[in-house]
Amino acid sequence: MGSNNVNSVIVVGGGLVGSLCAIFMAKRGYHVTLFEYREDIRTAKFARGRSINMALSNRGRKALRAVGIEKIILESAIPMKGRLLHDLKGRTTSVPYDALTGQCIYSISRDYLNNVLLTELEKYPNVKIYFNHKLMSVSFEDERISVMNLITEEITTHQADLIIEADGAYSTLRRYMQLTPLFEYSQTYIQHGYLELVIPPENGPKMTPNHLHIWPRGQFMMIALPNKDNSWTVTLFMPFGKFESLRNAAELKDFYYKTFPDAVPLIGEDLLVNDFFKVKPSALVSVKCKPYHVGSKFLLIGDAAHAMVPFYGQGMNAGFEDCFLLDGILERRSNDIAGSIEEFSRERVEDAYAICELAMYNYVEMRDLVTRPSYRLRKFFDELLFKCMKEKWIPLCNSVTFSNFGYKQCVENRKWQNKVIQKFLWTGGLVTSALFAYGLRIWLY
Ligand code: FAD
Repeated sequence: MGSNNVNSVIVVGGGLVGSLCAIFMAKRGYHVTLFEYREDIRTAKFARGRSINMALSNRGRKALRAVGIEKIILESAIPMKGRLLHDLKGRTTSVPYDALTGQCIYSISRDYLNNVLLTELEKYPNVKIYFNHKLMSVSFEDERISVMNLITEEITTHQADLIIEADGAYSTLRRYMQLTPLFEYSQTYIQHGYLELVIPPENGPKMTPNHLHIWPRGQFMMIALPNKDNSWTVTLFMPFGKFESLRNAAELKDFYYKTFPDAVPLIGEDLLVNDFFKVKPSALVSVKCKPYHVGSKFLLIGDAAHAMVPFYGQGMNAGFEDCFLLDGILERRSNDIAGSIEEFSRERVEDAYAICELAMYNYVEMRDLVTRPSYRLRKFFDELLFKCMKEKWIPLCNSVTFSNFGYKQCVENRKWQNKVIQKFLWTGGLVTSALFAYGLRIWLY
């Protein structure tokens, strides 16, 4: 217990998930100390270059609502009601996320979201934020962490009733946890990287608004999400080998005119060449581990616990949901920290594994399956049955994006739905064959 019998909590990482989690803890009345490696992004000259806008959906919104900042976030977000598919000839097809009830996801700037979270956190008098402070080491025996002030290079040690690590996919705490018995850990890099381009504000209005645009090309794809200033953030996902094969401006332009012809005038040839060769493509990692806690004080959340490839747009949403769930468990258990982190860990792992796998699958769906008639037929069936049995038949994409079902439950639902559809098609096939055989018999004799 911290002073005056109030729990003290250290949060490491002031990214999206760490700053939201710190708000939840401050709201509970805990004394919160947040250490963030980077300088304060609200005053930093150069923001780091990672996905400058994100898709926010139900799970993330629910958590933001619980701490009273959903409204301000949505005011600066752009609704996306479906995917807009671009074919090779530049023709487009709109595929709504939820044709029945019109629910949508929102494109929001990563930095704006982080800014709002940090500013909200600062409003609590029981919070101290230290930027330019890096977690260096962890001692589970002494229940301490060492943190370096990156300006003075001074190292200090800290203890708290609860130490939450939201330090991202390459978490320092997780490295220490890997040395503890029975801790399971795996990481997978996909052989595709990503690179960000931009459609400048003057060309933004030429894009069909309120959609997540996709150029699916089988083995790779490009997507675009809208920004408030009319620009669009364009992300190209492609095998590293393919990136390497484009060695100069001529090869790049040739590839773009052949593969994404309608996107070239929107991005602009010069900007395309400039942005493409400015940075190397980034890697995409998926991390699974369990448990998420050590002893009675240490806990992993967000990407530190379950980094995933970005194709379901759920990494941040799942991390926000972690904060919401942890808060709910602490509430139900009357602030019993040891019991709560053990329960969180036990309850959350399977859902996190499920969404990591779904995210991998969704890359194939987005870059390839969406263009196939079988995908459209299945979507048609799903929507029809959803319409008839709204409570019972919730299609996978809807349940992941718009429901509060655990991710594992979403996968289970999909499995029984698949079985029903298979049986239906099988029975339909049998009846058709029988009718055909009967007709043939009459015709022959
Ligand atoms: P991070 O955002 O990585 O933040 C970790 C923080 O910890 C950072 O601020 C870092 O500086 C700090 N830190 C690291 N090490 C230390 C240390 N030793 N000491 C102190 N501080 C430290 N998710 C969605 O929900 N929707 C999307 O549309 C979406 N799009 C994406 C697109 C791309 C291309 C990528 C790569 C990811 C996308 N994601 C999306 C996933 C999302 O970005 C992550 O899930 C989310 O950022 C995780 O937040 P986090 O706070 O756990 O980790």
